[in-house]
Amino acid sequence: MKEILKMYINGEWVLSESGKVRNIINPANNEIIVTVTDGTEEDVIKATNAAQKAFYDDDWMGTQAVERARLLYKVADLLEENLNAFAELETLNTGKPIREAETDITKSITCFRYYAGLATKPHGMTYEVPDDIQALVVREPIGVCGIIVPWNFPLLMAVWQLAPALAAGNTIILKPSELTPLTAIKLFEVFEKVGFPKGVVNLVLGNGKNVGAEIAANVDVDKISFTGGTKTGKSIMVAASSNIKKMSLELGGKSPNIVFEDVDLDIAVDYALFSIFTGQGQVCVAGSRLLLQESIYDKFIYKLVERAQKIRVGNGKDKNTEMGPLISEAHMNKVLNYIEIGKNQGATLVCGGNRILDGELQRGFFVEPTIFINTTPNMRIVQEEIFGPVLVVQKFRDEEEAIYLANKTNYGLAGAVFTNDISKAHRVIKKLRAGITWINTYHTTFNEGPWGGYKQSGIGRGLGTFGYEAYTEVKQININMNIKPIDWFSK
Ligand code: NAD
Repeated sequence: MKEILKMYINGEWVLSESGKVRNIINPANNEIIVTVTDGTEEDVIKATNAAQKAFYDDDWMGTQAVERARLLYKVADLLEENLNAFAELETLNTGKPIREAETDITKSITCFRYYAGLATKPHGMTYEVPDDIQALVVREPIGVCGIIVPWNFPLLMAVWQLAPALAAGNTIILKPSELTPLTAIKLFEVFEKVGFPKGVVNLVLGNGKNVGAEIAANVDVDKISFTGGTKTGKSIMVAASSNIKKMSLELGGKSPNIVFEDVDLDIAVDYALFSIFTGQGQVCVAGSRLLLQESIYDKFIYKLVERAQKIRVGNGKDKNTEMGPLISEAHMNKVLNYIEIGKNQGATLVCGGNRILDGELQRGFFVEPTIFINTTPNMRIVQEEIFGPVLVVQKFRDEEEAIYLANKTNYGLAGAVFTNDISKAHRVIKKLRAGITWINTYHTTFNEGPWGGYKQSGIGRGLGTFGYEAYTEVKQININMNIKPIDWFSK
């Protein structure tokens, strides 16, 4: 009988009672990698009950910070011991080049260590008030946290939420994307090994419509943390109103990469390629809009296209591969459809634009690095998140126009500016309505820095101390240090 990978609920590996299964596909060749159990709303309810019992009855909420830190350090160590196996699995399931998968796993390890360290650091505060009162503020875990993540960085997006949630003393239910559950399953094997008590960590597999929606709506889930598309985020907000859940939303983007005329063109081209074509453009902060100053426009485009055409597209497990396939056939078709929309609305295609049908690659979901010029701000390819290897170029005259164009979308996740004029760089960044910004770099991300978006790119901030606080409730405690009758009412 073929093996079916299981979910992890209440300290046990289980199949969904529904009996449903799902094949997990390798996007590089459309072959089935493995079959996993496919959960339902019932499984979410079981996981929620287990997480509640662990938090309240078994007193995980009372676990000491040093103990939580110890467990998280052990998780990091085991991940490190198995770095290559995790990276290879991530590449198999997502198609991403192995060097990118290795980076994701390394970042996951350092994230667990960062939050293991943070668990034991000071978190509360005191402030001075009148009337002999000693005022304290403490942070406490929220309770049962539902964590729903997408397929583009399956392990890393999960870890960015799991590590602070567990460090702060919550119990959790993770739902990975139905397309990419494999490294999450492996991570829960690590959780089991390090010895998290029963019910503290739960993994439910399944689709968004039923399983994800149940996590978002379930009144016994105290907090929902969602990373994914803005449209789904809106439905999560509605579902989470069932019990006024605490909420963190990490949503989509259409981020501008602004290049001024004073830069070294070759270096700026390098970063422009890096900003959009890593992860096949399936990156929330991808520099999907390149804003070029008109004086360097033609020269820049020439160099950009020349380099983009040389990107080595292939199977991610091959060390020479620089760009892999898109995650699924459906997603590839969505991206190809956007390319058609771009052409139909009058943008000029200067690079790529097609599915790759050469040799082995025709079996997978590969799309050429694609670049559009002659765009106008209202075109759909300029406004909407394509989430593929499609770069849209916009031209600007001066600083003012660059800022205007940069901010002219509903998103506000990230943005970068390239210039050698440091005052100009600061002026532009100050006016950018985005949560994650860079000057003369792109994609650099640290555990220490807050992660999240303005406008329709999300609510709240992950990572850093912000990410920890997002998994805590705040309580004020007022202590009377001089107790005596107050005689408010007559005796
Ligand atoms: P998606 O919104 O389709 O799915 C994300 C997750 O939500 C999946 O696990 C899915 O099963 C689940 N889901 C789907 N419908 C649901 C529903 N109605 N209720 C509850 N859960 C539901 O997104 P995706 O296609 O997997 O990922 C791509 C999107 O994620 C892009 O928009 C990207 O920008 C965004 N993203 C954002 C960040 C960030 O940090 N801001 C990071 C990575 C990805």
